[in-house]
Amino acid sequence: MSLFEMAQIPMAEASKLINLDPNIEKIISNPERTVEVSIPVKMDDGHVEVFTGYRSCNSTVLGPGKGGVRFHQNVSMDEVKTLGFWMTTKCAIAGLPYGGGKGGVIVDPRKLSKGELERLTRGYIDKIAPVIGEKMDIPAPDVNTNAQIMAWMTDEFSIIKGQFEPGVITGKAVCMGGSLGRTSATGRGVITATLELLKRHNIKPEDATIAIQGFGNVGSWTAKCAADKGLKIVALSDISGGIYDANGLDPYKVEEYAKAHDGLIKGYPGATAISGDEVLLQDVDVLIPAALELQITEKNADKIKAKMIVEAANGPTDDKADVILHKRGIEVVPDVLANGGGVTVSYFEWVQNLYRYFWTEEEVVDRQEQMMVKAFANVYDAAKKYNTTMRVGAYIVAIGTIAEALKLRKGL
Ligand code: NAD
Repeated sequence: MSLFEMAQIPMAEASKLINLDPNIEKIISNPERTVEVSIPVKMDDGHVEVFTGYRSCNSTVLGPGKGGVRFHQNVSMDEVKTLGFWMTTKCAIAGLPYGGGKGGVIVDPRKLSKGELERLTRGYIDKIAPVIGEKMDIPAPDVNTNAQIMAWMTDEFSIIKGQFEPGVITGKAVCMGGSLGRTSATGRGVITATLELLKRHNIKPEDATIAIQGFGNVGSWTAKCAADKGLKIVALSDISGGIYDANGLDPYKVEEYAKAHDGLIKGYPGATAISGDEVLLQDVDVLIPAALELQITEKNADKIKAKMIVEAANGPTDDKADVILHKRGIEVVPDVLANGGGVTVSYFEWVQNLYRYFWTEEEVVDRQEQMMVKAFANVYDAAKKYNTTMRVGAYIVAIGTIAEALKLRKGL
């Protein structure tokens, strides 16, 4: 089964529960436009490499496409289409006036010089310029792309258009029109979702324990926001392995340690070293996978001891594990809800760019929290109403909104 087919499973379940018109389901299940481009790049030694890039605009029913660009050797059209589909769902759940999209280039950026990376980025934008724009489809960072790459993308697009176009890209540096509070937004939203879930289980934050897999942008901010709210983090991991402390880990200190040790947490003093896999199996209230896709599968779903899971990464649980977790009564807050904080603040950045008027960090944080609390309640209530999982509940909310607009727009 392709990733794209797997991603459609909860939507199909949701469609059945709400008796969605099959014509609407057919339209929503297919991306509106996919583009494959070849990007010739003159390498530093003078020879030319031709890279393959993609952009998939999944939906523009609720507004322009929105979604990041990934630079990775494993990028494929299937992956880009799937991530674009998840973005459509995520934006609809978060209540944003966006559809969904995603882009990618097949490349291991660590093998390129800075100059080669810049030429590749500009070449990619030259090729997809006809299908992106602040009112059409709006890229952002994803795996291996960052504020520097967003700056080159914005600059290249502005050169093509002959005017500064900050609204075409989000995830920019603040000096280029980026929003305050964007870097921490995804992790902050994950913790807002976690607190909402704990509240519904009558568990006070100070009584809750959590384990987090991944200590990159999302994992480290999730950990810091969790500590700020009084949650006890007993286990953390990254690519180098895991660390455990029953008395609680201080993520600020772990981050300081990692900065001084090649960005890795291995060897953090005072904690017990455990394997990366063990972090997923801790007996905690909440497990937060914040690293990669497909981490919870039928191989380990039976052994998970956490009472609840909040998915910070995209697609960390596969379809078989989902069934096992549901049978075992482990509630899962799905990625399309839990990690929507990033795109929510990307939306704030875009709004600020269109107005050329900027908000304080407090305004960003307050508005983000309000939107996440509302989105969580919508999904939670839909899951209860239809006696289903929060994942299917999330699709009920998303496709309900998209279907309503689609019916009106297309007279279906
Ligand atoms: P990142 O590259 O900054 O961090 C990834 C982290 O995962 C690193 O700490 C890495 O060491 C760790 N890791 C990799 N393999 C691991 C393994 N096998 N076991 C344990 N840890 C491992 O990436 P990120 O931006 O933090 O993104 C993480 C996930 O969140 C991805 O699925 C991404 O698509 C998703 N996401 C990110 C954002 C965002 O705003 N950055 C928004 C929504 C979703």
